[in-house]
Amino acid sequence: MTALDCDVLVIGGGIVGMSTAYAITRAAPGTRVTVLEKEAGPARHQTGRNSGVIHSGIYYRPGSLKARFAVRGAAEMVKFCAEHGIPHEVTGKLIVATERSELPRLHGLVQRGRENGIPVRELGPAQIAEYEPWVRGLAAIHVGTTGVCDFGAVAARLARLAQDAGTSVRYGAQVRAIGRRPSAVAVRTADGTVLRARALVNCAGLHCDRVARLAGDDPGMRIVPFRGEYYELVPSRASLVNGLVYPVPDPAFPFLGVHLTRGIDGGVHIGPNAVPALAREGYAWHTVRPRELAGTLAYPGSWRIARRHWRYGAGELRRSLSKRAFTDAVRRLLPDVTADDLIAAPAGVRAQAVLPDGTLVDDFLISQSPRIVHVLNAPSPAATASLPIGREVARRVLETLRTG
Ligand SMILES: Cc1cc2nc3c(=O)[nH]c(=O)nc-3n(C[C@H](O)[C@H](O)[C@H](O)COP(=O)(O)OP(=O)(O)OC[C@H]3O[C@@H](n4cnc5c(N)ncnc54)[C@H](O)[C@@H]3O)c2cc1C
Repeated sequence: MTALDCDVLVIGGGIVGMSTAYAITRAAPGTRVTVLEKEAGPARHQTGRNSGVIHSGIYYRPGSLKARFAVRGAAEMVKFCAEHGIPHEVTGKLIVATERSELPRLHGLVQRGRENGIPVRELGPAQIAEYEPWVRGLAAIHVGTTGVCDFGAVAARLARLAQDAGTSVRYGAQVRAIGRRPSAVAVRTADGTVLRARALVNCAGLHCDRVARLAGDDPGMRIVPFRGEYYELVPSRASLVNGLVYPVPDPAFPFLGVHLTRGIDGGVHIGPNAVPALAREGYAWHTVRPRELAGTLAYPGSWRIARRHWRYGAGELRRSLSKRAFTDAVRRLLPDVTADDLIAAPAGVRAQAVLPDGTLVDDFLISQSPRIVHVLNAPSPAATASLPIGREVARRVLETLRTG
């Protein structure tokens, strides 16, 4: 048998891949891990392009992986940042109803928060003003455990800790082919290097379904990329927002709606919306990859989403193409804001798993085949939940090593 290069290969150097590598080295010291990341450094995609919010876990269905891992993950993330000197702050946040029709859903969130063990406080308009004098709403809830941090810095620190424990991290290593034998898995990277291991973990984010297919597995879903665009408040108007302010989310979508976020750098971000991206890494409308777009359009799930949600989608498109329409939407929460107060900021693209029937997969999705663990849906709040997710993936792949 050809000698193996390591025990576990991890594809993807975002926060989930790095957390997995770190967790393997903690759970089974001495396990030889290699992380393969196609970019020149960690966290260049979702992990480095998000709202930076440590989510409390209030939104998620009780008992779901999202609820369990977000609640636990938020507390662990705060502790991790504190221990490793990574800038973070537990700011708390408001979820604000601006229309009467949203009040039952706001109340539903209070119940859900309590079921998930999250302390929430109900507020009337006068109390909203105590937290956020410039925000208008009929009612709100205050969630005390929400915070902000720099997830890119967290991923980089996880990588360093894993490397200190013997993990090899290779940047500029794009996996192009995967082969499997009964006793091993092999990958070939873009420069022709072949690496063999006893097991493989797929944490490829926006490309995870493709990587699963490279391995010969049918993932049963497809990543449909949804871009989230942001504006930033000009510094002279940043005092309009003290902390984090969210609308009441539409339950039909896993996205949380355009929110106001005072980040760890003191700047206030407004976004993200959710529009179809024309490439998996399509950070602007002009980034189009015809083959990827053709793949999305050929997928029955994409058309079913469009048919089911065209009205919501049309509104999001309008707000993407017209700054005035975007500003009007923000003014529902923050009436004093004008289009001149907003400057465009870098966008992110969400790796959203979609089933063939058009269902947007709501929960985290981790699947297994012999010697391989695939992380197939890790959208928000997976950065918050990355420490428990990494441990769960590590547990599964180490089990594979023991039994395989
Ligand atoms: C707009 C936006 C806002 C968000 N806001 C929040 C938030 O406030 N709070 C929160 O908790 N979560 C948030 N999220 C979600 C969070 O960012 C993601 O859940 C998390 O970053 C997922 O991490 P990941 O490691 O799975 O993916 P990624 O960070 O995308 O990492 C995947 C990596 O795999 C690499 N890769 C892909 N294919 C290959 C290959 N063939 N070979 C080698 N490498 C490969 C990529 O280059 C990439 O670095 C947000 C996401 C977006 C897009």
